[in-house]
Amino acid sequence: MLSTNAGKELLAKDEKYVWHSMKPYNPNATFVIEKSTGARVVDVDGKEYIDAMAGLWCVNVGYGREELAKAAYDQMIKNAYTPLSFSHAPAIELAEKINELLGDDYVIFFSNSGSEANETAFKIARQYHHQKGESSRWKIVSRYRAYHGNSMGSLAATGQAERKYRYEPLAPGFIHVTPPDSYRNNEDHYTDPLEIPSVKEVDKVMTWEFSETIAAMILEPIITGGGILIPPENYLKGIEAVCKKHGALMIVDEVICGFGRTGKPFGFMNYGVKPDIITMAKGITSAYLPLSATAVKREIYEAFKDSGEYDFFRHVNTFGGNPAACAVAIKNIDIMLEENLFERSAVKGAEMLKAFQDELKNAPYVGNVRGKGLLIGIELVKDQATKEPLDVKLVNEVIAKSKENGVIINKNGVTVAGYNNVLTIAPPLNISDEDIETVVKVVSKAIKELK
Ligand code: PMP
Repeated sequence: MLSTNAGKELLAKDEKYVWHSMKPYNPNATFVIEKSTGARVVDVDGKEYIDAMAGLWCVNVGYGREELAKAAYDQMIKNAYTPLSFSHAPAIELAEKINELLGDDYVIFFSNSGSEANETAFKIARQYHHQKGESSRWKIVSRYRAYHGNSMGSLAATGQAERKYRYEPLAPGFIHVTPPDSYRNNEDHYTDPLEIPSVKEVDKVMTWEFSETIAAMILEPIITGGGILIPPENYLKGIEAVCKKHGALMIVDEVICGFGRTGKPFGFMNYGVKPDIITMAKGITSAYLPLSATAVKREIYEAFKDSGEYDFFRHVNTFGGNPAACAVAIKNIDIMLEENLFERSAVKGAEMLKAFQDELKNAPYVGNVRGKGLLIGIELVKDQATKEPLDVKLVNEVIAKSKENGVIINKNGVTVAGYNNVLTIAPPLNISDEDIETVVKVVSKAIKELK
């Protein structure tokens, strides 16, 4: 372990040379992590933390898995790189495994990040309609509050103005609609999915924009970065029906929800739908190496087949699906299945949610505690009756105090609208019972101590 002095020196160099995305406004910033195992990370001064936000980068099988390091090492020694204009066994085996998890017939395009997986999906959706002779279909419907990536298309799909407005003009053709919000705008009581107002809005927008201009809709099963918004049980079914009605493809972004976070292999599986395109990243390797995938229903792929040499999807990606990342992903999925981590996420997530709800029942500033699997959101408000969002300074205080007491959490929401008030708790899926208890205690105490 490095001495405290060495820690200070590193921090000084970090300050001088490294541009962190949210610096200097991140209440967790900045500490230098030296090592990590399971759900715990240790900084250069030897202080240990439970990483209860590892789920946002989806270290789903926990840190320090030698099997994953070995899978990367073995593959790099055997064959470090082959572009996917050729092929290699790890990519083939991984594509087959993803299909087994999806339980259906998809063809897989590999990239390196969630943003790229979504860009790929948009291009496939637009070109698919071209292939079918419907070249007027290029608009993509997305939702306010959602985050879909940092590149010009995925950012255009993102529904958080503060991430976008300085970089405009972004890719044109992205239209935003209202997301479901069970706490502020409860739609859970509609038995007919087509009667849910946030579904009706999509139908109306697609109609008024003119169906024949709509290529697709993109949505996360549960909006994560915008504040852990759990939809009504039948919301996705409604969206699926509306997309079908208007001839639009349904793209589901599983970048965070995929690979067990919500208690199922993929988040959409909680809601009984069959998306046309599914994007995934992070949890595909439990974040050990960069890799992402865009899974496309076979009939969509088939539409490209006879398009001729110059037209067959001209979209390449140098590192996408590289052998080492695919080998790690294969092992990562094996671990998840062997250790029953999807079920574990559902069971432990439900227990953790209940523990938080019990602990925070009469706590001031707590508006709503919600979650699915090991993805939990605690919405903090000034006033439980008016639901006015709590000032971000106080939200940050909870995060800082939790960190002081050895638990790392995060906040999510939308800054421009003042909703940066949802604490996010998403630990590795194999977090121990004892660590779950500690997270609940430490975070609840930090909330209760707010003045
Ligand atoms: N989609 C969602 C839902 C995400 O949360 C993220 C990243 N937080 C992305 C896409 C973009 O992924 P990446 O950072 O790997 O580009």
